[in-house]
Amino acid sequence: MAASLLDGKTISAALRAEVKEGVSAFVREHGRAPGLEVVLVGEDPASQVYTRNKEKAAKDVGIRGVLHTLPKETTEAELLALLDRLNRDGAVDGILVQLPLPKHIDEKKVLDAIDPAKDVDGFHPVNVGLLASGRPALVPCTPRGCMKMLATTGVKLEGLRAVVVGRSNIVGKPMAQLLLAESCTVTVAHSRTKDLPALCREADVLVAAVGRAEMVRGDWVKPGAIVLDVGINRVDGKLVGDVALEEARAKAAFVTPVPGGVGPMTIACLLENTLVAAKRRAGR
Ligand code: NAP
Repeated sequence: MAASLLDGKTISAALRAEVKEGVSAFVREHGRAPGLEVVLVGEDPASQVYTRNKEKAAKDVGIRGVLHTLPKETTEAELLALLDRLNRDGAVDGILVQLPLPKHIDEKKVLDAIDPAKDVDGFHPVNVGLLASGRPALVPCTPRGCMKMLATTGVKLEGLRAVVVGRSNIVGKPMAQLLLAESCTVTVAHSRTKDLPALCREADVLVAAVGRAEMVRGDWVKPGAIVLDVGINRVDGKLVGDVALEEARAKAAFVTPVPGGVGPMTIACLLENTLVAAKRRAGR
């Protein structure tokens, strides 16, 4: 029987509706909307689309979304000065700097400059450390979205074998931490992993976060597995994931499609993180 598709559009719509209610309650209680500031440096077309979508999604749920579009010549000092201003502004709950940054700006320095309490992308070392030590943190949006999709399957994660292909700070590593926190036995694979297909075949939960179109084939998938495809690749003008969808569907119990799977969850989780940050800051 073909795997069930985990529909990110429906799951993310439910999450957005939940966040919208939470935002209304926050406004009633605190007399202001949560604030999200999105910072874009330069004119990368994909980043322009992503940041506009984030600002719009924020406004749609009642968050005060502000988009700062800075020219590509912006210096590191100018960007750090903006972040300092936003850190000190009490009406700002979430700050997000769209990556990648132009080459002349040190990405680490910029991420480190964001107040961890406002770091809605969850990339600051403090949030990375909190997540790794099992304490409440702002969790990166894409892996958080993956966990929410997993929850909709109703499958008990405890004790399952999980393989995460990809070890980026944005997806692979935090995904592994979240699965570990659910008591999965987790292996993180990467470009130097030997016999990746055999490793993947052991996975009850297989997460592909690589950026290589349809790399994960049907015969890499354990029968009855849950397959989460984070990859976004453009092939002949079409979006495809890191997993060969139809092949995986023939083997797995659940698969996320691309497009319409993990993708829509990321922005919904960003909105949720902004509300979480606003509530924590208001409660301090
Ligand atoms: P990344 O930083 O480029 O990391 C890719 C990872 O894949 C690296 O750890 C790399 O290994 C590994 N890798 C590359 N080739 C491999 C191979 N042949 N076999 C095994 N592992 C291999 O990418 P990322 O930021 O994590 O993103 C991954 C994908 O997810 C991209 O397609 C991206 O567009 C997509 N993405 C989607 C969302 C969303 O909202 N849905 C969000 C973020 C990213 P090494 O470390 O050894 O180089």
